[in-house]
Amino acid sequence: RIVYVNGEYLPEEEAKVSVFDRGFLFADGVYEVTSVLGGKLIDFAGHEARLRRSLNELSMPEPAAMGELLEIHRELVARNEIDEGLVYLQVTRGAPADRDFAFPGEEVPPTLVLFTQSKPGLADSPQARKGIKVISVEDIRWGRRDIKTVQLLYPSMGKMMAKKAGADDAWMVEDGFVTEGTSNNAYIVKNGKIITRNLGTEILHGITRAAVLRFAREAQMEVEERPFTIEEAQQADEAFFTSASAFVMPVVEIDGSVLGDGTPGPVSQRLREIYLDESRKVAV
Ligand code: PLP
Repeated sequence: RIVYVNGEYLPEEEAKVSVFDRGFLFADGVYEVTSVLGGKLIDFAGHEARLRRSLNELSMPEPAAMGELLEIHRELVARNEIDEGLVYLQVTRGAPADRDFAFPGEEVPPTLVLFTQSKPGLADSPQARKGIKVISVEDIRWGRRDIKTVQLLYPSMGKMMAKKAGADDAWMVEDGFVTEGTSNNAYIVKNGKIITRNLGTEILHGITRAAVLRFAREAQMEVEERPFTIEEAQQADEAFFTSASAFVMPVVEIDGSVLGDGTPGPVSQRLREIYLDESRKVAV
């Protein structure tokens, strides 16, 4: 695999980052994940805009290559012959000469790394046809979940708790209400209405979420942005989650309680189709 590190395209074995990199020492970094369908990037502009916002919220300097991100993504997709898959972009506050809590000065440039994952069958996913099972776990993450940082330890633990319980993923709950999934935004459907948590610092402002809600409204579907509980989700007609890596993923079981007949519901399936069709049309 060819990866990008600070201006260079290199075989992954030759790519190196300093042991003093703040991403490694302090989880002082942000990232983005953009999906690739038919060799083209989905929702690229949204991911680029959110990256800029994440950097800004953390007073992290923009990498010198900020203006070339689309070209770098395309180059990696081409060099790695990605038809369906993902491009990961990671930015950290760079590698000062020594470990220190205080942010380094301007002389330390941010570290920029991009790599690809080939995922044949990302769009025509067997999991999406079957639906997935989630469990609920307490949300004990920090308070700025609207910034897409690389602090992914607790979401990883949530995923492991789900696996241990025989489920696929975890939905996190704070003060009795679902915040989001370990790596996705959570939704329920009741009497045709799509319900998903309103934006705030409690959740990541999903790029897929924004697109899916726009398509839903354009298709005259009713949308309500408000928090919901696990109990309400268990009583819902349908549930699903959205993310750049899973698009719209039907959820058929929540904490052991089966939704409807245990198969993906019509609204979830329709939204997945609309999202895939519409975003392919404007892919870059
Ligand atoms: N929420 C969290 C915590 C995430 O990590 C992600 C994606 O990785 C999402 C939501 C979905 O965001 P997006 O649709 O931009 O991928």
